[in-house]
Amino acid sequence: MEGNFVAMYTVDAQKCAMCWGCISVCPADAIFQGKSSVLINPDLCDNCGLCEKVCPTGAIVNEDHSETAPQQSARKDIIISEPDTVRECDVVIIGGGPGGLSAAYFASRAGFSVCVIERREKFGIPVACAEGISTEGLTRVFEPKREWISTTIEGALIFSPDGEELFVDHPRAGFVLNRPKMESGIAEMAKDSGAEIFTSTQALRISGKNFAESVIAKRNGEILKIYAKYFIGADGIGGISRRWAFPQKQIGLMDIETCAQVLLKTEEITENIPEFHWGSEIAPGGYAWVFPKGKNLANVGLGIVPSIAKNSPQEFFKNFIARRFSKYKIIERRDGIVPTTMRFKPPGRGNLLLVGDAALFTNSISGTGIDTALFSGKIAAEVIAEMHGQSYIKMLKEYDNRWKNSLGRQLDLYARLRNGILKLSDEEMNKIAGMLRRQLSGRKWTALNIPKIVRDIVFFNPKLLKIARHFL
Ligand SMILES: Cc1cc2nc3c(=O)[nH]c(=O)nc-3n(C[C@H](O)[C@H](O)[C@H](O)COP(=O)(O)OP(=O)(O)OC[C@H]3O[C@@H](n4cnc5c(N)ncnc54)[C@H](O)[C@@H]3O)c2cc1C
Ligand code: SF4
Ligand code: SF4
Repeated sequence: MEGNFVAMYTVDAQKCAMCWGCISVCPADAIFQGKSSVLINPDLCDNCGLCEKVCPTGAIVNEDHSETAPQQSARKDIIISEPDTVRECDVVIIGGGPGGLSAAYFASRAGFSVCVIERREKFGIPVACAEGISTEGLTRVFEPKREWISTTIEGALIFSPDGEELFVDHPRAGFVLNRPKMESGIAEMAKDSGAEIFTSTQALRISGKNFAESVIAKRNGEILKIYAKYFIGADGIGGISRRWAFPQKQIGLMDIETCAQVLLKTEEITENIPEFHWGSEIAPGGYAWVFPKGKNLANVGLGIVPSIAKNSPQEFFKNFIARRFSKYKIIERRDGIVPTTMRFKPPGRGNLLLVGDAALFTNSISGTGIDTALFSGKIAAEVIAEMHGQSYIKMLKEYDNRWKNSLGRQLDLYARLRNGILKLSDEEMNKIAGMLRRQLSGRKWTALNIPKIVRDIVFFNPKLLKIARHFL
């Protein structure tokens, strides 16, 4: 049959991990959550192809279709009926991950009435994370409970692109978490302090022009509308808060890493010692990791920058796992997306403060963000408590300042350093690893003279000079 052929993107529900990476980059708002996977609305899709590049599982496929061929069924638009339930509280938190739950705990402890809206049924499940956190990153906000921790981190093995190994001896460096247990634990603490948490509830829309007035959510087919004075956007990179606060800002392919990851059962891991593998053949723009979780289990994955990678994350992952392990069993997939570069200034709009991944508060080099989500949730709640009664402009400014003066500046620096690192060739990375190997030989990480090491590295790599002077 003759006809006009158009590209059409569809989602393979079997492969979709519901990580919302595609939603976060879609410039046409054409992707939405269906029952067991995301769906693409063909009427809104403009065939840009970004979602396909970002998807860590290969669930989005692009096929040429005749315009006359039947298209996938999808909603035309979000049709929101009259609310079944209307509520009012002081603080609404959209998203119950580490950032939202931390905010819920600190805001309710400060005496506010708090509602949390979380689309998942169970906290932290599915896990889309390697679950590593530094001791400082966790204890800065919470005293960890035993059940939150799968294992401790006592050092690291770093592999340069040439496969040479570098051991970093760093006792009590951090933890590999059990995220579902940690998040359920913080949720219980928040509830004990008075917070009300709606699980299996998806926020659909924030209403209000200059400042947020209410949020509309769907729970078991019913529409819930909650009015509040303050809003905290903690719904991750694909959520609605960031879009409401910054409708014009589009996340691009350079601004994220797309990560293929599994929970692996294998005896071929070193207890308490995570591994990091670098190189353009392994993970272009990112790195591959092995995070041991005890009992012969490990989170094994990699992150790549989709704009510079020639293959899909799945392809790189298959190669990595075949090269690194000989005997293993994949227990479950744990794929996802990490924001890595952009920053919103200020991180919010009006009376809505963004925290965690929704604010793009991650470490651009390691791609980690649990610690910053926990911490930004805490300071957002504290700022609301301290600035209560003052103007929203002042409140947002105070949040921005407090973030900048605590972790923000450092993270901005990492974002710039990432640009330098992306330009390094494998050979230059090998040289840097060689220098580090000499410095580390027989010494603990804490005994190192970091500024001297950076100086040595920069001397041989002038590309990094501009950025590294901030560390010296
Ligand atoms: C593969 C992978 C490995 C990673 N490894 C690490 C690591 O080892 N260490 C580390 O520190 N970081 C890691 N990260 C990053 C880390 O997972 C995030 O930075 C962290 O989860 C951010 O927390 P958050 O609370 O801001 O957002 P999230 O954890 O994304 O939580 C957002 C919550 O909002 C909910 N939500 C979203 N939209 C809506 C809506 N419309 N209505 C209601 N609820 C909604 C979601 O269900 C979710 O529970 C990794 C990420 C990936 C993808
Ligand atoms: S192809 Fe582009 S417009 Fe269409 S769903 Fe994917 S990201 Fe959105
Ligand atoms: S990017 Fe994530 S949510 Fe989108 S189709 Fe792929 S796995 Fe599903």
